[in-house]
Amino acid sequence: MECGYPVKPSSLVACPECDLLHRQTELAPEGEARCVRCGALLYRCCATNANERALALALAACIVIVVANIFPIVGLEVQGVHTSATLFGAVQSLWDDEVRSVAVLVFVTTIFVPLAELAGLIWVLLVLHLRLRGWGAVPILHFIESVKPWGMVEVFMLGVLVSLVKLAHIATIEPGVALFSFAVLMALLAATAAAFDADAAWEQLEDIR
Ligand SMILES: [Zn+2]
Repeated sequence: MECGYPVKPSSLVACPECDLLHRQTELAPEGEARCVRCGALLYRCCATNANERALALALAACIVIVVANIFPIVGLEVQGVHTSATLFGAVQSLWDDEVRSVAVLVFVTTIFVPLAELAGLIWVLLVLHLRLRGWGAVPILHFIESVKPWGMVEVFMLGVLVSLVKLAHIATIEPGVALFSFAVLMALLAATAAAFDADAAWEQLEDIR
């Protein structure tokens, strides 16, 4: 079995932890290259396969993110009055209640950025998978790297859970489908980020350009 990592024996790779430069070498299947000074991971054999796994995880996350945005996050019942809200409904309520800066922040960090990041990642991984030349993967990969810090599904999830605990004694709470979907989405996004090898993606893009 040939290693999927596009190794170029003449090129150098910098340690992400201590910046020590190393010359790339071919690896055995399932092998990994580590920094000689600090032991940080430099690259893995079969990173291409890792990116195929990232594509599968990103597609699953894409389905879950749609479910998380369509169904209600939580249902509340206070004195016989029942209300439920979807994430977008919550953003709309914040906007209507004149807390517009919070509405924009929630929309950007929990809807726009996760969706844009996922769509971009799927696009790049499909371009790599199908070896399509000149399909805008380079600017999209730059875009993904720049918006990454603004995706905050886990912070949102924590906020919702804290609010539910606080509300538990004044209202009857029914967790909605979207709440569970967000929990699954959080795990899928973390797994996608762990599987995605950006360095290998850049190298592959160089090769097909
Ligand atoms: Zn190092």
